[in-house]
Amino acid sequence: MEPNDNPEDDPRWINLLRGGTVCASCGQVHQGIFDIGYAAPYYWEGDPTHAKLKDVHDFNNFLTSDFCVINGEHFFIRCILELPLRGIAGGCFGYGVWASLSKANFKIYFESFSSNEQGGFGPWFGWFSNRIDGYPDTLKLQCQVKPQSGNTRPLIELDIVDHPLAVAKHQGLTLDELFEIYASRGHAFD
Ligand SMILES: [Zn+2]
Repeated sequence: MEPNDNPEDDPRWINLLRGGTVCASCGQVHQGIFDIGYAAPYYWEGDPTHAKLKDVHDFNNFLTSDFCVINGEHFFIRCILELPLRGIAGGCFGYGVWASLSKANFKIYFESFSSNEQGGFGPWFGWFSNRIDGYPDTLKLQCQVKPQSGNTRPLIELDIVDHPLAVAKHQGLTLDELFEIYASRGHAFD
């Protein structure tokens, strides 16, 4: 692709929007941008299957799709790190990643979860709790967690500005970078 070409005219992009291509790797039809998620914080050594909250009996060690507690002293929530797509109006890719919270902030988030009205909370300090492939180590980066209202996961911002992941957040991803990320996680569109 020539640098002056409009990314929105890129055939890979048009195919992804149409959902017309079966993923050569996972066999699903992906329509539109989809997030890449991490099932659990890096530190979780238990079963990566998400329990339903109603089935959790040991609140000192559990993993659901939104919460994780380890040894009753490490508290994590699932967040979204949004990376805009360069040259794609409104286009945004998300990493589904985990951040630690203090026990007090975790408790606020946990207890208000079903209200879907959490936009007034935060930003809260957290530690980035996943290693993202393709970047210098992202574990333990300091971050800010901003809960949202409307049944939407909290947004995460890195405090550091010169880490390549923070640069990608500010400058956005090219389509090549987006499709590299997808390929690295087993989604190929050729
Ligand atoms: Zn796929």
